[in-house]
Amino acid sequence: MFRNFKMVGQVVFGRGCFNQLADILSARQGKTASFTVFIVDHVFQDRPLRERIPAGDRDMVIWADTTDEPKTAAVDRLAAEVRSHAGRLPEAVVGIGGGSVMDLAKAVSLMLTNPGSAADYQGWDLIKNPAVYHAGIPTLSGTGAEVSRTTVLTGPVKKLGINSDHTVFDQIVLDPELISGVPTDQWFYTGMDCYIHCVESLTGTYLNAFSQAYGEKAMALCREVYLGDPADRDDKLMMASYCGGMSIAYSQVGVCHALSYGLSFVLGLHHGIGNCVAFDYLEEFYPEGVAEFRRMMARHRITLPRNLMAGVDPAGLEKMVDVALVLEPLWENALGKDWRQVMNRDKIRQLYQRM
Ligand code: NAD
Ligand code: ZN
Repeated sequence: MFRNFKMVGQVVFGRGCFNQLADILSARQGKTASFTVFIVDHVFQDRPLRERIPAGDRDMVIWADTTDEPKTAAVDRLAAEVRSHAGRLPEAVVGIGGGSVMDLAKAVSLMLTNPGSAADYQGWDLIKNPAVYHAGIPTLSGTGAEVSRTTVLTGPVKKLGINSDHTVFDQIVLDPELISGVPTDQWFYTGMDCYIHCVESLTGTYLNAFSQAYGEKAMALCREVYLGDPADRDDKLMMASYCGGMSIAYSQVGVCHALSYGLSFVLGLHHGIGNCVAFDYLEEFYPEGVAEFRRMMARHRITLPRNLMAGVDPAGLEKMVDVALVLEPLWENALGKDWRQVMNRDKIRQLYQRM
């Protein structure tokens, strides 16, 4: 069976296109005379973007604390808050932020129309009802969350996405001005998420012409951004993230992402930095990608945290192995159908112990 995947409904791209958000939303309002929920990264609470959010009196603006990546409990809490706001469902949920906030917006829009807890839906195609209309506006580029069919959540027992066609945004607003001025470390970590998506997609066994076309373009854009110095680097990184996301939509990520999920679950490392930490130890699997990644790190004077396992007890290490091992499609993409012959608990544990 070939994947019949759902794509984002509408896309607007360009410097300053954030100003069109009010028009985009008002074109929908009037259908239900309801309200809009804006979920916005807390970093913008004291920045000029705050004043540009087109929220009216009856709308809700929720400042999302992204110190930790999104948890299922936080999604449940927010969905309940939104549900009780006006005694009816909102017209739209808009997420303004990096991957964490875009994922929160996706998850809240899903949980407004589906019963139970977000944790019940971590997995593939468990969502039954369409979400409330939801729009994503990235302020960091790299994760590809703007185009993906998942919202990655940490639940009580696992870090796993709610993967479904209903998860996909109805609208995305890609304004490169919003990602300028991101601190260098964060810009690097989130951008490397995209670079690693490309390496894992382009070297994986699931590769096909669709994924290759997007993956090669995204990789070329990452090289321009991180090894060159283009004047329009924000525009290029934004499109790299989009294309990288499209590439993995039709293939899969690999070893680095599997290990990174374990690091996030046990150590609370954010996805981008977790990927960078893991990737630096993966020459065995991705020799060229890791060599180029190190050139990019040197160019931007990035130093990664080391000796992370010093603070992890044996139970924590075993939990990391559990979280990584369960991601079977990632291992299969990276290592082929017989991946279990090359990868097992011992090998994964050894990889973690080097970090
Ligand atoms: P993030 O959203 O976690 O944000 C990282 C930090 O950057 C936060 O402190 C935030 O306040 C800050 N920030 C955001 N925008 C900023 C700006 N313009 N200027 C300055 N600071 C800014 O980082 P991320 O790397 O974009 O996203 C990581 C999250 O995305 C993880 O939760 C991960 O699981 C998820 N993810 C989702 C997908 C998907 O397909 N849904 C794919 C990859 C990763
Ligand atoms: Zn990623």
